[in-house]
Amino acid sequence: MAIFQTQDLHFILIPFMSPSHIIPLMDLAKLLAQRPQLTVTVITTPLNAITIQSIIDRAQKSTHVKIGLSTVPFPAQEAGLPPGLENTEALPSPDAWKPFFIACTMLQQPIKNLLKELQPRPSCIISSNVLPWTVKVASNLKIPRYDFQTVSCFSLLLGQTVMRMNVDETVGSDSEPFVVPNMPDEIVITKSQTPQETERTGGGDKKGIVDQMREAELLTRGMVVNSFYEMESKYVDAHMNMGRKVWCIGPVSLCNKDMWDKLERGKKASIDEDVCLKWLDSMEPSSVIYACFGSLGLGRISEAQIIETGLGLEASNRPFIWTIRKKDLSSRVEKWLEEEKFEERVKGRGLIMRGWAPQVLILSHPSVGGFITHCGWNSTLEAVSAGVPMITWPMFAEQFYNEKLIVNVLKIGVRTGVEAAMKMGEVGDNEVYVSTDQLKKAIKEVMDSEEKGERIRRAGELRDMAKKATEEGGSSNLNITMLIQDVVEQLKLK
Ligand code: UDP
Repeated sequence: MAIFQTQDLHFILIPFMSPSHIIPLMDLAKLLAQRPQLTVTVITTPLNAITIQSIIDRAQKSTHVKIGLSTVPFPAQEAGLPPGLENTEALPSPDAWKPFFIACTMLQQPIKNLLKELQPRPSCIISSNVLPWTVKVASNLKIPRYDFQTVSCFSLLLGQTVMRMNVDETVGSDSEPFVVPNMPDEIVITKSQTPQETERTGGGDKKGIVDQMREAELLTRGMVVNSFYEMESKYVDAHMNMGRKVWCIGPVSLCNKDMWDKLERGKKASIDEDVCLKWLDSMEPSSVIYACFGSLGLGRISEAQIIETGLGLEASNRPFIWTIRKKDLSSRVEKWLEEEKFEERVKGRGLIMRGWAPQVLILSHPSVGGFITHCGWNSTLEAVSAGVPMITWPMFAEQFYNEKLIVNVLKIGVRTGVEAAMKMGEVGDNEVYVSTDQLKKAIKEVMDSEEKGERIRRAGELRDMAKKATEEGGSSNLNITMLIQDVVEQLKLK
């Protein structure tokens, strides 16, 4: 029987081509590469390789770790997409999701060929849950495949339970609240808040991919989850009790320790680090509201909604950083900002970031006291890691589930009050989900209410637990060791 040492191990990481998968998976690559004698190679496509190479270069500078990178061409045109489209950030409309997934599936053969030639011989594949065909590549090479989850164990359990409930048949109207059975906490939601709603309103035909993911689960060795046991132990246990293998190894963002790592995590920020840090340093502790709505943008945020958001932030009378994604910065929005002299009106207390914010750097700054978030899982976990209470504004997919975790289970957030998922596809210019008043009220509640102290205490406790989990001897740190051990065991069996 072969005896494997870590120096024999070669981990292959394959992220889905989207910032919210690439960013945490590259953090995991860094964490694995810090383990003695373990080789890590990331597989991606040429355009994504540019971003990934800069993350690798940065990691080498700060922690001296070496991570390999190999590419396969992305068959955009073959799948009916414009040439050069290799990342979900660039998807022109929700209709483009389907061809994007098709193009991803077409990577199966080239990746299989590449891995056959790669030295040292690959030991396992860790790939995004939305690349289910990687399980076939792994089985061809007779190595285990692990599913990298960019959602919490809570959301996974809630999603699976709702799916089994067949809500279309069992629940009346879209706005009728129903209790989700067999959850460790009481969770009440509506049909309008489920990911199925996103698909119904044109969020891309993901049914095919969801079925493939379910099939792949049967052949997948287990889930590597960007979460930590102490935060959602009941939900991790629930999966394990159903016979699933789960390794919670996060929050992975905490591996970014120095200022440059935080600043350059993922993509280059649209603001000069000096300007950003000087501005944050000039504010009182826990006084700043930071607003950011993630990277994906299945749908564009309407112009009317952008304006309401700006007015809400202004009306809060607090310092704020407001990130407006490039795709939301239409000429009408720019015209409004200019004509209303918005930036002059909030001068000294309002900072607008057009494009990409250095989110982990901002959240970890002591002057930030609240985070208006779309409840993407990475953003949620980054706020938990920084101990920052949240103002929840879920938009689509599983974000309403994350809101339940933040507000009802962890009790570290306040709702803006959005009741239904954003409609996908063509966005009407006047579509508004959160009004100026709603936003102002939620900000006041987070920053001024009687419950504020308790919320901050709980957020601080979770931050400390998260940090401890990732340190030497902490649960997430040990889970990485156990994951490596599992790979060794699996190879012995082959
Ligand atoms: N992010 C960032 N700056 C931005 C927007 C997003 O650094 O201006 C990062 C954020 O820190 C997180 C990821 O992009 O790691 C977004 O992932 P999330 O799961 O929160 O949302 P999604 O992009 O999937 O909607």
